[in-house]
Amino acid sequence: MEKPCLSIVVPCYNEESVLGAFYAEITKTAEAIRETAECEFLFVDDGSSDGTLSMLKSFAEKDERVSFISFSRNFGKESGIYAGLSNAVGDYVVLMDADLQHPPCYIPEMLETIRSGEYDSVAMRREDREGEGKIRSWFSKMFYKLNKKISGVEIVDGATDYRMMTRQMVNAVLDMPEYNRFTKGIFAWVGFRTKWLSYHNVERVAGETKWSFGSLVKYSINGIVSFSTVPLAISSFLGVLCCMFAFLMMIWLIVKTLVLGQIGSGYATIVTLILFMSGLQLMMFGVLGQYIARSYLEGKHRPIYIAREKKVKKTNKSEESAV
Ligand code: UDP
Ligand code: MG
Repeated sequence: MEKPCLSIVVPCYNEESVLGAFYAEITKTAEAIRETAECEFLFVDDGSSDGTLSMLKSFAEKDERVSFISFSRNFGKESGIYAGLSNAVGDYVVLMDADLQHPPCYIPEMLETIRSGEYDSVAMRREDREGEGKIRSWFSKMFYKLNKKISGVEIVDGATDYRMMTRQMVNAVLDMPEYNRFTKGIFAWVGFRTKWLSYHNVERVAGETKWSFGSLVKYSINGIVSFSTVPLAISSFLGVLCCMFAFLMMIWLIVKTLVLGQIGSGYATIVTLILFMSGLQLMMFGVLGQYIARSYLEGKHRPIYIAREKKVKKTNKSEESAV
């Protein structure tokens, strides 16, 4: 029987300082699973401005298992993941970061689990957030809690993008052609049987994280808005609540003026209420705006990424003519 192919998909953005170490590790892993599977290493250069692409080219020259796609600019990790998944040829696909924070030593175990046929996906979650800032950890935890409460899909706390999937699951993920991609949500949304393995957080080998606090906030909002319309329901609910409050207040004022004969100036109350109500309205416009902006962006049907150069095993006629 022919050996199955495992595609290892790696999005890279300015990773020249770690790529050498990553390649050395991943080739060792490929050697360890040589008996079970053949490997394809598919690197996605997300518009790096350092020597990432030239390193990828040199790997590809001496190792025919290496494929790469290089973007015309930085499109973000989510686009990198999509490009990698859509160009992978493997029967199984594993997605991992280039900075060795996703230790390749788990690949043999993941492969064995998925090959048993009991699971369609094996995903890694971090047990702890060692080495990560306290405030950042706290916000991440809050995000997962909030997300679990208001969105239909549950994302496990500490879930990473380090995941092996069967071809069937990869195709299901690729069947979701949305432009605003929140991959963690997509993985949860497509379902399938997933086994979670835990590991201790590992710090980046070299280079630095590409995520600022601001970009994480943006990522979280995208995560919630992409998979849930509960914020819209909350705004309607708050609207109803405010109307009820206003109605009760009106009755109270009528009684106070007509029955008790008290006429107060109420200046402070009016100013506070106007400020509160206009703040609430603006906030809800903002929530509505998030959804409208997303439909607007989706409606444009822009490509998720644009490749400037690529050397991949997969032949896709329609894409070739576009690149
Ligand atoms: N990455 C990418 N495009 C980006 C930002 C990051 O392809 O715009 C890649 C990066 O090269 C790495 C992975 O995504 O392989 C995770 O990034 P990083 O290590 O900076 O994130 P962290 O581990 O801090 O969450
Ligand atoms: Mg990292």
